[in-house]
Amino acid sequence: MFNWAGNHEYGAEHVIELTSVSALAEELARTPKVRALGTRHSFNDIADGQVIVDTLVAREHLEINADRTEVTVNGSMTYGRLAELLEPLGFALHNLASLPHISIAGAISTGTHGSGVNNKSLAAAVTGIELATSSGEVGRLVRGDADFTGSVVGLGALGVMTKVSLEIEPAYEVAQFVYDDLPQEVFGANIDEIMGLGYSVSGFTTWGGSVEQLWVKHRLPLHVDMPATIFGATIASEDRHPIRGHAAGACTAQRGEAGLWSDRLPHFRIDFTPSAGDEIQSEFFVEWSHASDALDALHRIGEQIAGALLVSEIRAVAADDLWMSPHHGRKSLALHFTWGPDKAAAETSAELVGDILAEFDARVHWGKVFAPHHVNLASFDRLDDYLHLIDRFDQRRAFRNDWFDRLFD
Ligand SMILES: Cc1cc2nc3c(=O)[nH]c(=O)nc-3n(C[C@H](O)[C@H](O)[C@H](O)COP(=O)(O)OP(=O)(O)OC[C@H]3O[C@@H](n4cnc5c(N)ncnc54)[C@H](O)[C@@H]3O)c2cc1C
Repeated sequence: MFNWAGNHEYGAEHVIELTSVSALAEELARTPKVRALGTRHSFNDIADGQVIVDTLVAREHLEINADRTEVTVNGSMTYGRLAELLEPLGFALHNLASLPHISIAGAISTGTHGSGVNNKSLAAAVTGIELATSSGEVGRLVRGDADFTGSVVGLGALGVMTKVSLEIEPAYEVAQFVYDDLPQEVFGANIDEIMGLGYSVSGFTTWGGSVEQLWVKHRLPLHVDMPATIFGATIASEDRHPIRGHAAGACTAQRGEAGLWSDRLPHFRIDFTPSAGDEIQSEFFVEWSHASDALDALHRIGEQIAGALLVSEIRAVAADDLWMSPHHGRKSLALHFTWGPDKAAAETSAELVGDILAEFDARVHWGKVFAPHHVNLASFDRLDDYLHLIDRFDQRRAFRNDWFDRLFD
């Protein structure tokens, strides 16, 4: 079995199916080494283990709390399925990643994010988790509990999240506009204003002198009267795909056509292959004050990574308080790289980018491709608390896998 991208083959000898929480708890208690698997959208071996829990077979569960502020679902539910179930109930989430295909538990475990200067990562919307641990116990942690902020971006090392509760709000509409060719020096010099142009803003570039596409997503009912040009970029007259040569039909509607939050916040439609399909990804996060310097530094190596790169995406993520989140305690400029399928070329380029961004104290996306020396554990001031926490929850270290040992031991 391979991950979605096909760049990692899982080495598990055995798969446990999550058919019931009590049966799972019994299995966990007698399994020496185990790891939960979501929708397999990570680009490394973070979800691999001797035994894998296939969470996707779990029974669907959805429950809205009495004061209609949170939804509780099975952890393996995808964001796309949750959006479908929330739609008739009139609720929404605060944000989504570029694709709705990923499982909620898998996404929050790695600190997955969308964009927006005021939008925190998807994990920051979590209000509670139900966790089955290696001792065979099943417990619940809720916001406000001492261990909660250490458990949500848990990197799969605490146990299996069988249920997740998320903040909800009344459903809203979004309209997105794409602008072409924003000059690179204008982008860097006006990063605050540009990334603040909408509720969620993404810049796509191949580092060749311009941000080739700027995607601006407006949350309605704000009055949106978008100018034909903005910071030197021109409004696109046709729908775009972020990767040149790919059909825009796979992307959510653009040109200001209003639509439901869940049909506009992700770039890619649920019933299409997201992104290029045949690709590898890396992503690094720098603290916002380093934004323009980091962009300049990347422009200087643009030619060196051009052969491996399909496209880069630049996003903003607000700070959160989750201990192992890449956005813990700092607002981030997210610098994403979609590489072609050549593994060696992707790894070499990711290493070069990581070296450059290390000067800006960058953190990595846990679920993507990076060199181990770029994890920057020193920047996580709750690291020791996290390591003690996982030792308490998983005393026999059943959930530690090769990925974890390589980075944390
Ligand atoms: C095309 C594409 C686009 C992407 N876009 C974005 C983006 O916009 N923003 C972003 O931040 N990332 C993005 N990613 C990365 C992706 O969001 C993360 O890798 C995410 O963690 C994948 O979720 P998953 O369900 O596939 O988890 P998996 O890859 O299956 O697992 C990830 C981690 O979660 C753990 N896990 C899974 N289920 C559970 C559970 N029930 N309980 C406990 N732990 C569990 C696993 O053990 C592992 O540690 C993208 C990936 C792809 C392929």
